[in-house]
Amino acid sequence: MLRGVQKHFGALHVLKDVDLSIGRGEVVVLVGPSGSGKSTLCRTINRLETIDEGTITIDGAPLPEEGRALARLRADVGMVFQSFNLFAHRTVLENVTLGPTKAKGVKPAAAKARAQELLARVGVADQAGKLPGQLSGGQQQRVAIARALAMDPKVMLFDEPTSALDPEMINEVLDVMTALAADGMTMLVVTHEMGFARRAAHRVVFMDRGQVVEQAEPEQFFAAPRSDRARDFLSKIL
Ligand code: ATP
Ligand code: MG
Repeated sequence: MLRGVQKHFGALHVLKDVDLSIGRGEVVVLVGPSGSGKSTLCRTINRLETIDEGTITIDGAPLPEEGRALARLRADVGMVFQSFNLFAHRTVLENVTLGPTKAKGVKPAAAKARAQELLARVGVADQAGKLPGQLSGGQQQRVAIARALAMDPKVMLFDEPTSALDPEMINEVLDVMTALAADGMTMLVVTHEMGFARRAAHRVVFMDRGQVVEQAEPEQFFAAPRSDRARDFLSKIL
């Protein structure tokens, strides 16, 4: 839940009085032109970016600033980026077990069992012993999703998770995300995949120049955007 969030990078005002709430189990797709502040907004939610004004809460509690509470926050808020960011010198299985064993004190055997279950859920169970570089982009991104899920997050943030993928791999990642949404995961997804937005989103949020300009159910947003800026944006991407 963001209230009145303001963020500057020097003289650049990147988030302008942003209000955004995401209900439990809700899937929100965030769209908008390049540079509108989508990534910055995502990054404020797990405190990869600080904010200048306003409040951000998760389940009613303000974001912690430092220490163990901040580490717990990073576990509660899973994040998947455009670049997969896997540990290159660890196996796929280790990529998924490291967080729970190091940060949450889960016993290795339990972490391994859970990791195998999650890798199966994202369809890469047979890749567990390989290094990330030996996998396709789509497989790596599915491992990144499994790695985030291993921390039992309250919410998952996806920042253009399919933008770096070859076209034939995009759907295998979107299918995993669609299944996750159907399972009731709370999700904020930045994407240009409007098919995914139509299929999986409960709400589309349109940002432009640091502001939330419009929010609507996908059907209404795509069929009849209310603002000129959203209409203009959609005319360029659809
Ligand atoms: P895209 O669709 O291209 O990913 P975006 O909507 O995610 O764009 P942001 O990455 O949030 O946009 O960037 C918002 C604005 O803030 C841009 O003008 C960008 O150049 C600027 N910006 C982002 N990160 C920084 C930073 N660390 N320092 C300075 N300016 C930044
Ligand atoms: Mg971005």
